[in-house]
Amino acid sequence: MAEPPSKPPEKKWLATSVRSAAIGTPRAPVVRPQAKLYAPGGAAPTGAGLDSSRVRANMVARLMTQGLDSEAVRDALLKVERHRFVDSALINQAYEDTSLPIGLGQTISKPSVVARMLALLVAGQTVPMGRLLEIGTGCGYQAAVMGYLSKEVYSIERLKGLHDRARANLRPFQRPNIHLIMGDGHLGYPAGAPYAGIVAAAGGDAIPQAWLDQLAIGGRLVAPCQIGPGQQRLIVVDRTPEGYVKHELEAVLFVPLKSGVA
Ligand code: SAH
Repeated sequence: MAEPPSKPPEKKWLATSVRSAAIGTPRAPVVRPQAKLYAPGGAAPTGAGLDSSRVRANMVARLMTQGLDSEAVRDALLKVERHRFVDSALINQAYEDTSLPIGLGQTISKPSVVARMLALLVAGQTVPMGRLLEIGTGCGYQAAVMGYLSKEVYSIERLKGLHDRARANLRPFQRPNIHLIMGDGHLGYPAGAPYAGIVAAAGGDAIPQAWLDQLAIGGRLVAPCQIGPGQQRLIVVDRTPEGYVKHELEAVLFVPLKSGVA
């Protein structure tokens, strides 16, 4: 007689905190001296041969006044030309703090969300970190930023159309340390494991066991996750030598983590 299907192993959290003050409380605006380096104002990039560095510097300066406190993330955001990842019709909005459609019903995350996730990821770590995994490549923007924070980035996307688009978007950056993978991110990407950090850009009902398994000891996972009906929160999981420690942070709204490829 067939065995009944075995129950998936239950995750054992060493500790769980809700809105951990140490890492999750929204911070009071911090004005840093560096912000003064950036010229105020500045028009959106337009036309061919655009010089977007000024508008990008303004975007990053705004993020810093809103509490971005990681110099490594600031520097990485300054390097990546976000306008190259959005449709040409949306180029004027590329440096606003807004999510934008990237096709196939998906969106590029708001710069403040990318900054928040990546600041959590690098907190307390030496940059460049080791290998990072991103679930949900989308247009490839966040992967490009992560490429400046780590030695290697593996980014997985389930939609072929977006996987191909991200590849084309990333080509001008010539970043050999960014590896794009087509597949279902529920399974992570074992070939690159263990990861110093894992970031998900799409939220499911639970953190897949594969992500926890593929996290290095000392590594951190940052992912949106459903914690109740219609309630998604940012979750941080630290893998310590003793086990996993989970923190539930602020409410967020990410696209759903879907199964299979398309
Ligand atoms: N980081 C992206 C954000 C993309 S939006 C950027 O910078 O643009 C989230 C992406 O997650 C979408 O492209 C969606 O197709 C993808 N996604 C959803 N479920 C997935 C899964 N199981 N595996 C891989 N990608 C997934």
